[in-house]
Amino acid sequence: NRIAEIDGGERGIHAFLHVNGEEALAVAADVDARRAAGEELHELAGVPIAIKDLIVTKGQPTTAASKILEGWMSPYDATVIKKIRAARMPMLGKTNLDEFAMGSSTEHSAYGLTRNPWDLDRIPGGSGGGSAAAVASFEAPLALGTDTGGSIRQPGSVTGTVGVKPTYGAVSRYGAIAMASSLDQIGPVSRTVLDSALLQEVIGGYDPQDSTSLTDASTGLADAARLGNVKGMKIGVIKELHGEGFQAGVENRFNESLELLREAGAEIVEVSCPNFGYALGAYYLIMPSEASSNLAKFDGVRFGLRTLPTEGPLTIERVMGATRAAGFGDEVKRRIILGTYALSAGYYDAYYGSAQRVRTLVQRDFEAAFAQVDVLISPTTPTTAFKLGEKLDDPLSMYLQDVATIPANLAGIPGLTLPGGLADEDGLPVGIQLLAPAREDARVYRVGAVLE
Ligand code: GLN
Repeated sequence: NRIAEIDGGERGIHAFLHVNGEEALAVAADVDARRAAGEELHELAGVPIAIKDLIVTKGQPTTAASKILEGWMSPYDATVIKKIRAARMPMLGKTNLDEFAMGSSTEHSAYGLTRNPWDLDRIPGGSGGGSAAAVASFEAPLALGTDTGGSIRQPGSVTGTVGVKPTYGAVSRYGAIAMASSLDQIGPVSRTVLDSALLQEVIGGYDPQDSTSLTDASTGLADAARLGNVKGMKIGVIKELHGEGFQAGVENRFNESLELLREAGAEIVEVSCPNFGYALGAYYLIMPSEASSNLAKFDGVRFGLRTLPTEGPLTIERVMGATRAAGFGDEVKRRIILGTYALSAGYYDAYYGSAQRVRTLVQRDFEAAFAQVDVLISPTTPTTAFKLGEKLDDPLSMYLQDVATIPANLAGIPGLTLPGGLADEDGLPVGIQLLAPAREDARVYRVGAVLE
């Protein structure tokens, strides 16, 4: 009902691409009946959840917000979806995103933009703007997102919600349409730190269908969130990820968060990660390279759309060309071209190779930092939500939204964003990011709970 009330229409939030009302109600009714009969169910049984439309679901369409998958129905469920069904959580529907998760504003969806519930003329972040907006506007208490370069955390930051990118491998990627496989991670979106912890416990765990799945991912996440204690912990402020280039109101709320942690008994120290300045550049080579390869499967034969050339012979290359020309949006095409170029013979080492070397340097910066502190902290994004349309013609300034989130993806470590109050200038939510070493997801929940 809430979705029907505020999601549609010209000024609606438009968080959802597909609503799955009846099935969700049936699951909820079944949970009620089972509980009434005395059955012990999971804590989150009956709690509705919205699913980013990059994650495949049986019985509901999956589009990746692309024309190329319009009307496509997956024949199987992603591992995380199987787990959500097993926990008896009703799935409300599929949420909007930037096409194939490429973007920071959800304006690159082929099915129309999503609005930020805090100000309908502003972006809800991206690529997971639909999931964040659904949670922020009380259309759903929980959602799933995917984070390749910040697509859970940046939308969380600009909509005042909590979002977590787990350690790479802690949550199975099986059934998340691949963007950049070495960076992608599915994770929770919620209104509280504890809710995200509970949800990560539902979706996490080893999965033989994902070859990068961890057998020893961190446990005790909900306990850590309930504990919420930083006494005696060392928390590092990343020198390169605040100050210059960050909005004043963001800095103010960030400094207040540091003060809160100090009062709660943490020791705050400054650490330097000198190679972070190159992280954005490396990401925007690695990510398009992997995406250009991952998206090669949309060939007009195997999935979704098939467009025939209007004239000339119907060769497979020409059908593929016509399909991809009609099916992919501009940002997706831009990245495929960039990635194909970076991987091409003669340039491979100069571009992709250098980017991989920077990736190693970023990982080493983190290792050095975590040798000194337990957790790192920064603002999640340099600014609050910007206006719809403001950065659409300027991809580079759009990419800058990701400066603080990308290092965690390059290193495979966990990152959590939580609301840190409203910026003085514009009254919009500011996000605070916490980072921990790989497999130490429990730490970001433990510290996050203190800041809540
Ligand atoms: N803004 C990032 C990008 O456009 C976010 C990607 C993501 O995490 N899916 O690449």
